[in-house]
Amino acid sequence: MGTDGYLPQYKFTVSEVVDAFRCPMYFFLKRSGAKGSFVYKSDGIGTLFHSILNKIVNEIKSPTLFKIDIADKPLIELDKIITEELYRLFLEEVKRKDYTRNLDTAWKEIETMGLFFSKKFTRKSEQEVNDMLIFTERHIEFIMNNAHIKGKIDLLLKEGMTISLIDYKTKEEDISTDVIQISLYKYGIEEMLGERVIPKIFYVSNGVLEEKRFTEKEYQKMLPIIKNKILDMENYIEGRAKPYRSKNTGICNFCTLKRICSV
Ligand code: SF4
Repeated sequence: MGTDGYLPQYKFTVSEVVDAFRCPMYFFLKRSGAKGSFVYKSDGIGTLFHSILNKIVNEIKSPTLFKIDIADKPLIELDKIITEELYRLFLEEVKRKDYTRNLDTAWKEIETMGLFFSKKFTRKSEQEVNDMLIFTERHIEFIMNNAHIKGKIDLLLKEGMTISLIDYKTKEEDISTDVIQISLYKYGIEEMLGERVIPKIFYVSNGVLEEKRFTEKEYQKMLPIIKNKILDMENYIEGRAKPYRSKNTGICNFCTLKRICSV
């Protein structure tokens, strides 16, 4: 039920909300049935990256890698064992999907991120691992304003007394809207669990991992802006407001709807 006691009238995905922030016209055209996308400098690494990280998490959940008796291995040897296992998963995925481009870069990103996450789970019992992994790659649905919102989160992790909402990304896409996406997920998860979660985004680029955390203050500032945007989206659909073209014309270079939008 919506906050006012009525069933939500609109259904949006988290991606649609992000799109509406990038460009209201883009959101509206797509919502009206136009086929298009934002094409960034992607060579498929982002998709590959998510598939492998998903495999790593599955591997952690039904431990093959983590059943290896590594308790007394020195750290450097531990890194080697994990890296070899990650590489095996990487090769499996690459063969399965027939990726051809830039695999050296992809491996570098996956090795960096994979090692970082895998090491959080080593030297832990199966019970401890299960307690840590709350959700991985999970669809969530929640109500905001008068809308039903759907999205997919990468990882929800219990680390001590803290619940971390983790999103991992390569820097190949437009990252300016990440705070919107993670704020929506935080809202949805907190509604679902009734507990506070800490949003963190991990960016990996050229083998370097960078963690970006968003403070509660930033989130509280962002929330009313997102809610207003959702109201705008509803108004565009109902014809109560006219969608406008993005003021950031730089993104139009990546937009395949350019022709029909006649920018
Ligand atoms: S071309 Fe630019 S203004 Fe037009 S829909 Fe795409 S992003 Fe929006």
